[in-house]
Amino acid sequence: MKKVNILVLIVYLFSFTNLFGQDEKQTYNIKFIKSSIGVKANIKANITMLNDTLYIGEYGAWHEKEGWASYISDIEVRNKNNEELELKKVDRLKWLVEGDIIDRELFIEYIVSFPYALPDFNWPSGPRSTASFYDGKGMVIQGESLFIYNSLKSKTYVNFTLPIDWKVSTPWNVVSNNHEYGNQSLEFLSKNVIVVGNYKEILIEESGFSSKLVLLGYKNPNLEIIEPIYRKILKHHIKVVNNKEKGKYLMVWFPDGEWQTGEGYLGSYVVIKPQPPSVNHIPFWANTMSHEIFHYWLGGKIDAKDWASSQWFSEGTTELFANLSLIRNSIITEQQFFNLLQKHLVLYQSFRYKWGTPYEEISLIEAGSNKSEYNAAIYDAGTVTALCMDIEIRTQTNNAKSMEDVLKILYAKSKSEKYTIEHVIEICSSLTGNDWTSFYNKYINGIEFLPLSESFKKAGLNLIISQAGVHIKNDENAKGLELSIKNSIFGKH
Ligand SMILES: [Zn+2]
Repeated sequence: MKKVNILVLIVYLFSFTNLFGQDEKQTYNIKFIKSSIGVKANIKANITMLNDTLYIGEYGAWHEKEGWASYISDIEVRNKNNEELELKKVDRLKWLVEGDIIDRELFIEYIVSFPYALPDFNWPSGPRSTASFYDGKGMVIQGESLFIYNSLKSKTYVNFTLPIDWKVSTPWNVVSNNHEYGNQSLEFLSKNVIVVGNYKEILIEESGFSSKLVLLGYKNPNLEIIEPIYRKILKHHIKVVNNKEKGKYLMVWFPDGEWQTGEGYLGSYVVIKPQPPSVNHIPFWANTMSHEIFHYWLGGKIDAKDWASSQWFSEGTTELFANLSLIRNSIITEQQFFNLLQKHLVLYQSFRYKWGTPYEEISLIEAGSNKSEYNAAIYDAGTVTALCMDIEIRTQTNNAKSMEDVLKILYAKSKSEKYTIEHVIEICSSLTGNDWTSFYNKYINGIEFLPLSESFKKAGLNLIISQAGVHIKNDENAKGLELSIKNSIFGKH
């Protein structure tokens, strides 16, 4: 009887792991071909099939009727017996495979072209809405544009064949030096950007964390300005969360449109900015860069159980540490740092308190359900609240603990559980030995205006907040704990 049970268990476990594709692997062989009219990729893959449906993504290609399939041609599908199978388009981003798929395996071959990456491509909605660009040397494309797939969970390998002088940059795991990547879920591979071609990349390695920076399409990319700043920011963030893990991150810049915009992916970020990074606009571009890299941890690795109610914390704390990374590394001046904070304070004030009228009756918790309408609540009120929390924790612990400890605890726990705002409050309570429930009830789940002037005073800062605007100054009379809190926040020891 016992033997039978074990056998049943083994069969059950085998089918269970098969069902979720965990012991099966699929491989995409991607051959890039360069010609005078652009770049094409010839893709041959063996796909793990859990059912008979094939999909393609659409992120960044929403305007196209067929999503990324609009740029795919010559699809051929075969089963393990080398019999050609028919594909039937059944929905916008979906095909059904007709005929026998044998042993869950499907062989597929197709061609992907990238006309939309060319600078003169006529994007339907004005400036390109997606992270794709080809300057004739290097090309950045979205992972989703490459993969026809069945399951995003399937463990996937990618092999590249490249023209002789080309290289590839990805945030994916390197499997071999022969352009072999992956051993990761297709979801991670496809929800990222990659760069291929002949271009310059900067590699920045810090405590096992490896980051690449690529600037395409600028005449003078000013790498000597951006590289040291990128390095300092990365070092700062790694210290804040106490990152000890290996990690990979790719940041790509290219010119387009008339103002700076960007898109974040699971391990990569694209900055779309008409001008290359210059000394004149450091507070702006360095802050965006710092903000996005911080999301690798907060919002990425440190993932919330509930998206909407945690948005103010995720965005606000990220923005706070972006601002802090700049002042702590003297990337910006004290006045420029005050300017960044003043902007957040003005928007927090106008969100929460309309002069002569009652308070805006929406809490930070609720604001996340409509991120675009309550942008100021998420980003600015979030930043101001996170800063007040930092000052409060420091004050209550004689400057021994801070929001950095909250993040370190969240990061250490992030592998086993997703966080909630209640966890954050519990951590504040346990770090300080005080009950933070009323802080939560008043300022996070409630609609009370934070005691800002009082709070800033505890950090050696004078805050004048009125209908006319917001003004931060150093408090000349600050001493003792106030000064030491200020110095810690500003990174002066
Ligand atoms: Zn953000």
